[in-house]
Amino acid sequence: MNGANGHTTNGSASTSGATFERIQVINDEKQFTPDLSKQIERWGLRDAGFNYNVVAVFGSQSTGKSTLLNRLFGTTFDVMDETRRQQTTKGIWMCRGKDMNVMVMDVEGTDGRERGEDQDFERKSALFSLASSEVLIVNLWEHQVGLYQGANMGLLKTVFEVNLGLFGKKSPKGGANQRTLLLFVIRDHIGTTPLVNLQATITADLNKIWETLSKPPELQGCQLSDYFDLAFTGLPHKILVPDKFEAEVKQLRRRFVDKEKDDFVFKPAYHKGIPADGVAFYMEGIWEQVQSNKDLDLPTQQELLAQFRCDEISTAALAEFNEQAKSQRKPVEAGRVVEGLGQLMRNWRTEALARYDRDASRYHKGVYKRKRQDLLSVIDSTLSPLFLGQLKNLHKSCLVAFKKEVMDSLRGQDYNFADVVGKARAKWEGAFLEGAKEACVEGTEWSWAEEYGLLKEETQSVADQCRKDETKKMVNAIERNFKKQISEPVEMSLNQPTGDMWDKVLKTFKGTLDKAESTYLAKAKSFNCTEKENKTALATLRKRAWLVLRSKIDEQTADTVFLGKLRAHFDERFRYDEHGVPRVWKPHDDIDSIFKNAKEQTLELVSLYSRILPTDPSLEFRLPSEPSDSLNNTDDFDFPSTLIIFSDSKCLDLTNKFRRDSDAYYVEAKRSMVSSVAQ
Ligand code: GDP
Ligand code: MG
Repeated sequence: MNGANGHTTNGSASTSGATFERIQVINDEKQFTPDLSKQIERWGLRDAGFNYNVVAVFGSQSTGKSTLLNRLFGTTFDVMDETRRQQTTKGIWMCRGKDMNVMVMDVEGTDGRERGEDQDFERKSALFSLASSEVLIVNLWEHQVGLYQGANMGLLKTVFEVNLGLFGKKSPKGGANQRTLLLFVIRDHIGTTPLVNLQATITADLNKIWETLSKPPELQGCQLSDYFDLAFTGLPHKILVPDKFEAEVKQLRRRFVDKEKDDFVFKPAYHKGIPADGVAFYMEGIWEQVQSNKDLDLPTQQELLAQFRCDEISTAALAEFNEQAKSQRKPVEAGRVVEGLGQLMRNWRTEALARYDRDASRYHKGVYKRKRQDLLSVIDSTLSPLFLGQLKNLHKSCLVAFKKEVMDSLRGQDYNFADVVGKARAKWEGAFLEGAKEACVEGTEWSWAEEYGLLKEETQSVADQCRKDETKKMVNAIERNFKKQISEPVEMSLNQPTGDMWDKVLKTFKGTLDKAESTYLAKAKSFNCTEKENKTALATLRKRAWLVLRSKIDEQTADTVFLGKLRAHFDERFRYDEHGVPRVWKPHDDIDSIFKNAKEQTLELVSLYSRILPTDPSLEFRLPSEPSDSLNNTDDFDFPSTLIIFSDSKCLDLTNKFRRDSDAYYVEAKRSMVSSVAQ
């Protein structure tokens, strides 16, 4: 495949899948591939954490580097075709080792000796390989040993120098990620010069190079061994003794695989401490530094990497979380109480954090922790509206349920108002609390106290309203009953116009009123009414009772009824004698004085009835007067005026009316006497 970016990804000749795919990490335009991260994932290494290694190769062109790598790691790098001797593609390639978590880098290129313009690329490639790998295989022919140019020692010197300048700033003793193993592989080792001798030569050369390096001032005293470990191995001639070659390669391969062996090359000290999922970004950063020779050190690079990766990991962790949170947003906004929302939210939160921790905890601790805090606050600010919505909905539904329960109970027959309200409050305020506690998420500063306070206020005001309605209903019922109770006795008393008529009426009134008041007080106890409410209710009750009495009196003193009473009274005294026998007028009867007496006695009733006035002053009844209240729609109530049944002019009017009636009786009596005389 040839991507638009000019990078190449090649599968192996066989279709054995992604594992053997190789990728051009840096192309001949010196560009870093944007696809490395994806490729690492395709190799199945993305989640390997620290459980992977990086190895690269260094050496002149056509020294059998690619051949060696393919043998050692089962990779698929291009090998120069013997018959055509054509140049392979320039750049740095990477492939995953077969059956091993190793990223292998092969560096292709021309020899700087021959093509001056490529020296820059070669130097950069070498620098990059050195800085990003744990083990650098330095590949050289046996006959190159000791030859400064031939063994690329000049290049090595430059690389050491720049490497020190760019990446060596931190104390090598402290910086665990700085150590690298240089594994010298001497090709076509015939054996006449023993390996130890070659090793000594190379070591001496390297130390010489190291001494002559121009080092940064603060690194003047540092040794080659502070940065590098050296290892050596020889390989027989591949063409002359192919069997031996293959056998030795196999031996060498073991050193890359067998962790138990002492000569296992991937020592923990060489590991860069970059999680596998961050390798691509990290290497790109190194390449940028190499390219620009920017004077940055690796620790800074690692912190930058951590910031970038932790952000990425956090975003990924949030994506799933956001989906989950979104699923409950609608129902909550629609006013529903979502069952178990707290548990859901706690799960989403824990899961998102776990996703983040799994990948991000391997990065720079400070950055990891800071970004985790950021992630948490994003999560919590997403969950908070759900929590608040849930509270609001709980509040609403509990209040509605409370109202319904109270109303239903009040519709019943026997109930104790205080009990009904108390139980319903406990139940629904409790339900709110339970739901609110469930919706809380540990580690947040969420609180349901305010909403709970509001709910309590509202249930209280509903209870108050109900109590007022109930009290009103009760007062009405007591009033109706009162009316029934006083009707007959008052009517009877008013039909007997004795001097103590009002005493009797008021006695009845007061007795009945006392009973009504105690009925009220007994019931009011279960209502938890306040002192003030009781006072108002009792005042209302008294006033209404009084008005009931007045209307009964009014009914009994209406013109026709009252004139009837007068007539009956008069009749008893004028038309009947003291034994209750109807009179038959005789000539000697003193009609005039009998008439006069009867009339005067009868007319006295007008003043008796005209005012509610008991003979016993202790029976007097009093109510406070009230001015009219336009707010409460009440007319003014002037108690003294309610004691007056007939005004003065009304008395006169009634007297006149009765006089006319009685005069008629008188005339009739006279006539009957004349006719009896005439017989
Ligand atoms: P590179 O350019 O360093 O990657 O070298 P290649 O692996 O492409 O090999 C270049 C040539 O050297 C090829 O023709 C190989 O067959 C040959 N070759 C590989 N390994 C050896 C070896 O160990 N000894 C000799 N003499 N030739 C080899
Ligand atoms: Mg090659």
